[in-house]
Amino acid sequence: MFNQLVLASSNAGKVAELQSLLADAGIEVLPQTQFGVPDADETGLSFIENAILKARHAARLTGLPAIADDSGLAVYALGGAPGIYSARYAAMHNALQNGETKDAANIRFLLKQMEHQQDRRAEFHCVLALVMHADDPVPLIAHGRWAGQVSNQLQGEGGFGYDPMFWLPDLQKTAAQLSKAEKSLLSHRGQALRLLLDMLQT
Ligand code: IMP
Repeated sequence: MFNQLVLASSNAGKVAELQSLLADAGIEVLPQTQFGVPDADETGLSFIENAILKARHAARLTGLPAIADDSGLAVYALGGAPGIYSARYAAMHNALQNGETKDAANIRFLLKQMEHQQDRRAEFHCVLALVMHADDPVPLIAHGRWAGQVSNQLQGEGGFGYDPMFWLPDLQKTAAQLSKAEKSLLSHRGQALRLLLDMLQT
């Protein structure tokens, strides 16, 4: 097998979560930024397509096995938006404001879209793609999902992205109020990674 993988992402939140989850399995994750690899263009129309193209891009430019995470939030009342566009939701609607972080702008923009919506259901998705080399014809694919609700009240300091507004009714907490260990046990990313590790072991 391998004990080093390039991670095709420059998203610090994702890198931290995947590094700690894979370290438990004895795999060292090297962010692609360490090799000067720029982000790939995400031209796919699904999480799966984007995950595969990002993993191939990193493997091609480093010559190493690569793993990519394409993830996002699908809100029922918005027909699954922001979905694969979660990272650039506010930017693609020209709704960025001066001095605001990208995550804060995305949350503000999403809450605006949800202003008059009663149905608050939402789901995080994470697709992981692992390729042994750039032209690998059989990428390993794992898909995790995490159901919750869009909350108007932002709470918690942990996690990243939409976590402060992702409400978990069973726990009466947002994702940003969970410890790292709790989030990895429940999250779309933790689930996808455990599936992927199972596949690698069989
Ligand atoms: P990607 O780089 O296109 O996969 O963008 C994923 C985006 O989805 C991130 O930038 C976040 O906005 C959002 N996202 C994915 N996973 C999480 C999570 O675990 N918590 C909060 N937001 C997430």
